[in-house]
Amino acid sequence: MKQIIDRLRGVERDAVQKPGEEGDAPFYAVQGGEERVFRAAWEKRLPVMLKGPTGCGKTRFLEYMANQLGRPLVTVACHEDLTSSDLVGRFLLEGEETVWQDGPLTRAVKEGAICYLDEIVEARTDTTVVIHPLTDHRRELPLDKKSQVITAHPDFMLVISYNPGYQTVLKDLKPSTKQRFIGLEFDYPSEAVECEIVEKEAGVDRTMAERLVAAGRRARTLKDHGLEEATSTRALTYAGQLISAGLEPVEACRVAMVSPVTDDPELAAALEEILNAHF
Ligand code: ADP
Repeated sequence: MKQIIDRLRGVERDAVQKPGEEGDAPFYAVQGGEERVFRAAWEKRLPVMLKGPTGCGKTRFLEYMANQLGRPLVTVACHEDLTSSDLVGRFLLEGEETVWQDGPLTRAVKEGAICYLDEIVEARTDTTVVIHPLTDHRRELPLDKKSQVITAHPDFMLVISYNPGYQTVLKDLKPSTKQRFIGLEFDYPSEAVECEIVEKEAGVDRTMAERLVAAGRRARTLKDHGLEEATSTRALTYAGQLISAGLEPVEACRVAMVSPVTDDPELAAALEEILNAHF
């Protein structure tokens, strides 16, 4: 029962990073001008869309920026069952009483946090309706069920992520929603930056990081040959961590970079060949 109530309250669904809570700033290897652009958007509290493939550093970038700006970060991983009530809040029964429970977006709006709606395109379409008045000069959040409209705290900022590769005709953000955001493009990092990330995140030596990155970059070329999801920086850091934990490199790469991305024996064999050529 408690689990169900927690679920309704969104406890499982959102994570809050308080400024300075994690101690040191999250490690983030800068890829280009993203920090400069983000700071300018923050200055004017403009909503930002982080565009790019899964596992290329969007979330880490935002964790880093929130820490740099000294703002709390509220992250909501959107999914197909997520409704506007999950974001905004709902009345819950507590004993004989009904009490209003703010959702993560409402909390962020009130507290002046950065709210990150990860993969918002996955959520039900009524969620995009809710964010519209927050993304323009109004900076307002309507709480329909309470017949109330709240004005955002001056430090509130909305950020969404969007993976252009995933969209279909049926599931995409409307142009009228997209054009409300500043678009910040992300991609897999350059070879040198990716080596630095793998070395630091996985705790492997430079030579191993270079081999992993070289294998990963080669594996990415199979994206055009039917692989739905290219080998991500995250997958490379997983492989590196497994190597640090004592696995043989080929086995580590197989479980981190091959099994999760394909069920097709031919593609798996092609990926294995790449691994054997690098280790
Ligand atoms: P996304 O949000 O794009 O799906 P993440 O930000 O979660 O991806 O990145 C996945 C992992 O890859 C991170 O946990 C981190 O280990 C690593 N990573 C990717 N890019 C960077 C970067 N620029 N600096 C530091 N770590 C990175």
